Amino acid sequence: MTLKMTGTAASNGVGIAPAYIVDKPDLSFEKRRISDPFAEIQRFKDALLAISNDLRALKKAATKKLSKDELAIFDVHIEILDDPEMFNQVVTRIRSQRINAETAFEEVITRVIHEFESMTGNKYMQERATDFASIRDQVLAKLEGKQLPNLQTLDHPVIVVAHMIGPSDTSQMNAKYVKGIVTEVGGRTSHAAIMARSLQIPAIVGCKKVAHQVKNGERLVVDGFSGTAIVEPTTQQVAHYQQLASQYAAEKLQWAKLVNSPSVTKDGQQLTISANIGSSNDIPAAVNNGADEIGLFRTEFLYMKSEHLPTEEEQFRAYRDAVESLGGKTLVVRTLDIGGDKPLTFMPLPHELNPFLGYRAIRISLDRPQMFRTQLRALIRASQFGQVNIMFPMITTLEELQAAKKIYYEEREKLRQDYPHIGANIKLGIMIEVPLAALYAERLAKEVDFFSIGTNDLIQYCFAADRGNASVSYLYQPLNPPFLRLIEHIIKSGHQHNTTVAMCGEMAGDRLALPLLMGMGLDEYSMSATSILRTRSMMRNLDINECQKLYHEAVTKCETANQVHDLVEEWLKNE
Ligand code: PEP
Ligand code: MG
Repeated sequence: MTLKMTGTAASNGVGIAPAYIVDKPDLSFEKRRISDPFAEIQRFKDALLAISNDLRALKKAATKKLSKDELAIFDVHIEILDDPEMFNQVVTRIRSQRINAETAFEEVITRVIHEFESMTGNKYMQERATDFASIRDQVLAKLEGKQLPNLQTLDHPVIVVAHMIGPSDTSQMNAKYVKGIVTEVGGRTSHAAIMARSLQIPAIVGCKKVAHQVKNGERLVVDGFSGTAIVEPTTQQVAHYQQLASQYAAEKLQWAKLVNSPSVTKDGQQLTISANIGSSNDIPAAVNNGADEIGLFRTEFLYMKSEHLPTEEEQFRAYRDAVESLGGKTLVVRTLDIGGDKPLTFMPLPHELNPFLGYRAIRISLDRPQMFRTQLRALIRASQFGQVNIMFPMITTLEELQAAKKIYYEEREKLRQDYPHIGANIKLGIMIEVPLAALYAERLAKEVDFFSIGTNDLIQYCFAADRGNASVSYLYQPLNPPFLRLIEHIIKSGHQHNTTVAMCGEMAGDRLALPLLMGMGLDEYSMSATSILRTRSMMRNLDINECQKLYHEAVTKCETANQVHDLVEEWLKNE
């Protein structure tokens, strides 16, 4: 019987093939008392070492097949296995409680998994729980002498269906046979999703209970555009999706031709399409996808993966390497956007009831100026190696912006004692992601060279809806008419003072928002690398005058986001 299921669309494309359920063996075990803790600790050590060796071997074998990003995921897992703190906690339990390694290890790792899962305000950290869960399974399987599934043996086309997919699973996948992936857990930034996108395999994540609803061999459609999975589709559904798949394949071929083409509108206006990145590892994918610039470098990952406050030298090297690898393209770096929801191991922040309304981003930087100064100095120094622009996150008031600028100019002056013109080419900007800053854009524009609209936060603050809370996700409404008017206000205010206006929130890569944003006059569109070519292809077919008319109609005739959605869908059909 045909069954439709939905999850989060994680990687574009359509796949149709029999389901292959990745069955994990039963990893349950008995809590046992042991008489020889020394031997038990050795057994645990041997298991860790064997897995870490397996992962290193898999990584080596996959070097040619996988991107740098994917290979880095192996390192994350090897780091977890090598973590001395986790090891010591397990060993202490085995010794003091005289329990078997399975029990001690599971207690420790389950606590870590829960800690990550409870970071509901931060999808990135929440999804790191899946890394630890994958390690838990591997270690328990090794201790129990059980075999985890091996995707390397696949020899016919399948849709992989699993509770969760880890890097060791994906590295064994042969894209020739894996036509789609559906997992029960994970979000758009989980590793399964990242891997699927870079292997260009259509994927859906967070499709609850799918592994229980589908049987091995049942025909399955994966629609990675909408996040829909169909079990045992009808003949009409198969025909529809086959057509969608060949249309997408043809489109991709067309888009690929645009890698070196300018981001220009049908009527000849030059705009900019850039990429959002979390580390310099993401730069090759951005460049290969034709990014004009890097419009947002989220520096928090540099801090989050470090055990200590990154030094000026460490940061300088990271920013310099990033800008050098861009071969002349601009790098826009956002200063630290850390907060109660994104923890730093070396700097415990107080627990907050409302972390998104609390101590985060520029608020922390201004409160701990030494840390801020270190980052600014590193950035100013890196600007000698290419075009580095700097922007401040979460600016709310004029005083905050002026205080941040004052610190920036003080550091630049100090550096100029040794390097007279250093930093002369840097452009300064702010993220507009707090409603008050959006309302006050006219005044703030006088202070900076550029704005970058952070719609992920701006929407959560305008709609009073936590961006990580699935129960209120219906309030993520970038197309809501009053919200569109606010965006227009920001753009117009910026332009009154010759301030360039960019957008780096998810809305910038939204297919339906594009003609509206072009109609409002947005200058720069910064998005995930894989959306760039599709956006450029659309942009080149759209005329600014027509987009202006569409925008006008959207905000004068429509009263809800749904109405705008339908209006733009209809309009695009005729474009
Ligand atoms: C945003 O808020 O839109 C944004 C780009 O920043 P982040 O998602 O990192 O908060
Ligand atoms: Mg933000």
